Amino acid sequence: MARDISSILSSKVGKVTQTAGASKRTRKLPPSKVPKLEQHLAAASNATHSWKIQPYLISCKPYGFDKSWSYSNESKLSLCCFDLDGTLINTKSGRKFAMGADDWKWFNDKVVNKLVDASLTYDFIVIFSNQGGIVANDPASKSYTNFNKKLTSILGVLNNKEVKNVLLYAAPKLPAALKKNPDYCDKSPEKNPFVRNRKPNTGMWDQLMKDLSIKEVVNTAVDFGSSIFIGDAAGRKKDFSDSDKQFAENIGIKFSTPDDFFV
Ligand SMILES: [Mg+2]
Repeated sequence: MARDISSILSSKVGKVTQTAGASKRTRKLPPSKVPKLEQHLAAASNATHSWKIQPYLISCKPYGFDKSWSYSNESKLSLCCFDLDGTLINTKSGRKFAMGADDWKWFNDKVVNKLVDASLTYDFIVIFSNQGGIVANDPASKSYTNFNKKLTSILGVLNNKEVKNVLLYAAPKLPAALKKNPDYCDKSPEKNPFVRNRKPNTGMWDQLMKDLSIKEVVNTAVDFGSSIFIGDAAGRKKDFSDSDKQFAENIGIKFSTPDDFFV
C-alpha cells in the first residue's frame, strides 16, 4: 500500500511511453496532467525528505534516514515535537484553511531560531499533524500535492538553516471511496488506523517509535522528562479543542503552547 514519491514519479513518467507491437512510440500527456507532473518534479528536485503515503498516514523522513539511523540504547532520545497548523505556521491569507501550497507563514518571527536551537538540543524534531482536509489514497490529489509542496518549502527553509533532523507524520481524512470499507467503519482506535493516527490518539507516535527502531524498549529509549510537544489545541477559551494537550498526556511528555514556546 505504501508508496514513495520516486515510485509515484516513475509511474507517472512511465505512462508517457507506451509499447505498440514491437515498436515504442511516445504519446503526449493531456495538457491537464502536465502541471501536476511538473509540480511533482519541482517538489522532488528541491526535496530534502522522502515521503511515504498510506491512505491513513503520511510520513516524511530526511533522505537516507532509514539507512543511516539505528537506535542504540546507550542513551535516551530527546524529542522536540510540534503540531503544524496554528503552531509552527499560520496561513498568510488569514483564512482558517490554506488556499494553496504557498499560503503559509511562520507562527511568529521566533520560530526559525527556536527550531535551530531545538535541532542542537534535541535528537529529533518531529511534527505531528491532523490533516482532515487531505486525501492520501491518491498521490496526485490536489490536497496531497499542495501539502507536499508546502512542506517541501518549509523543510527546505529549515534545511538551509542546518535544521536537518526533522520528521513529519500527518493523519489524512478517510477518503469517500473507503467509507464503506469494513476495515475503516469501526470507530475504535485499536481497529481503525484512520482513528488511531488522529490526535489525541497516539498512532503517529507509535509509528515514530517503529521508525526509530524502538519497540520493547519504549519506556527506556525516550527521555520523557526532557521531551516535549507544542500545540495550539490546548483547551483554552480560544481553542477549538484540547487534542494536542491530550495527545501529549496520552504519550506522557510535557506540553506547551506556541504562545509560550515561541517567545
Ligand atoms: Mg493546530
